[in-house]
Order: sequence, then structure tokens, then C-alpha cells
Amino acid sequence: MESYYKKAINRIHNINIEQYLNIANKRYEEVRSRGEYTADATLIAEYYRRVVVLLQFMSKDSASILMGMSKVIHPHNEPIDIDRLLDICPNLKEIDFMILRIICCNYLQWCSLLDTGNPIAMKYHDIYEPMMKLIERGGGRISIHHHELVGGFGAFSRSISTSRGDMEEFDISDRALERRIKEVEHAEAYLKAYKLGASDTYTCLRCGNKLIIQENKERCGVWYKIKCETKHCYDQNFH
Ligand SMILES: [Zn+2]
Repeated sequence: MESYYKKAINRIHNINIEQYLNIANKRYEEVRSRGEYTADATLIAEYYRRVVVLLQFMSKDSASILMGMSKVIHPHNEPIDIDRLLDICPNLKEIDFMILRIICCNYLQWCSLLDTGNPIAMKYHDIYEPMMKLIERGGGRISIHHHELVGGFGAFSRSISTSRGDMEEFDISDRALERRIKEVEHAEAYLKAYKLGASDTYTCLRCGNKLIIQENKERCGVWYKIKCETKHCYDQNFH
């Protein structure tokens, strides 16, 4: 059977580099759609959730987004550094995003821990799935700014803390992510029609109930809340 480590290397080799070329100086909105960033945020939120579950199991309070999860289990494991990563996966030389590279290092290290058959690692074997999916789908342009992980999706705290508490699992299947993107496109179309003065009504793609737009004026401009009439259903803010 192919080792986890080998599979991980293959996976990194297969990342489509094209989507990361010449985007470093572009504004976020020039690179990906609002819907894609919403799907990215779902993947990151699911990674945070999985990390919290592992931290709770290990009786630890928090971990940085940059910390490798194998270190949570084996604090003294020798890390895979960026130089070694670029030797193993030279295709990443063309992607100059530091956080993306660090996540790939941590992923490789996690997979080599899986190859030792470590039972705790095996229990949480797919902890990196959301982040690898994020990178594969082109959402790996993330950076650290002060205490936050930032990207076109907005910001997450850089520290992943168990005080986030138990959260419900996010569906990160391709189908669910595509649905997230469609929902945002649908809401954007509604907002566009609304701004043009059209009186069309749009219904929620999740439940079929009516969507409503609330206009909010603030000193810095106008923003809109688009939400479903059903409680705890669709609810997102737009500009
Ligand atoms: Zn709904």
C-alpha cells in the first residue's frame, strides 16, 4: 500500500500552480468571486473545528494556525522545513505564499506520523483535508496580519482556541462547496436587481422561503443584509 507520505507528495505535486501565478499584487476581488471566498471560509472553519477536537482530546488550550498538528501529539518531532519541502515538491517554488508552504510542510509531517501508525494521528487522520482542499481549489492565498489569518474571505483568529467550543461539522464535499458558491451568486443577483429598483422576489436556495434584503446606512457607506425568512437559514452581509 502506498504510504500516506507518498500520497501527500503526489497531492502537492498535483496542485494546479497556474491559479497562483501573478496574483500576489492583485486585489482579492480580482482573483476570486465572493462565492468562492465564502466556500474558502467554510473550509478554514472546518479545519479550525477539527483542530479544536484534537486539542480537546490532547487536553491543550490552543494552537497557532502555523503549528503542525503532529507537534501537538509529538512535541519533539523534527519539523520538515521550507527548504526541504521545496526539494521534495519543487512545483511549490513558483508559489511564493509563505502560509501555504508552511501548511504543506505540516501536512507532510502529519502524513509521516500517520505512516508510523500512531493511534491518535490515525483517529484524526483527515485533519488536513480542509486546508489541502482549500489550496487545491485556489484559495491558498492567505497571510498573517497581526493576530489574524487574512484572505479574501475576511479574517480568522490566528490562534485556534478550544474556547471556540464544540461546533457542528461543516460539509466540505465538493457538492456542498459548490452550493455555497451558488447561494452567494443568487444573493448577489438579487441585490443587483434590488439596486436597479426591480421588485422581483428571490427565494432561498436552501429552503424555498422568501429572501429579504435589509439596507443599512453607516458613515462608511451602505451595506446590505440578505437573509432568509426562515430562522437560522441563509444570512450574509454584502456591500
Ligand atoms: Zn432558507
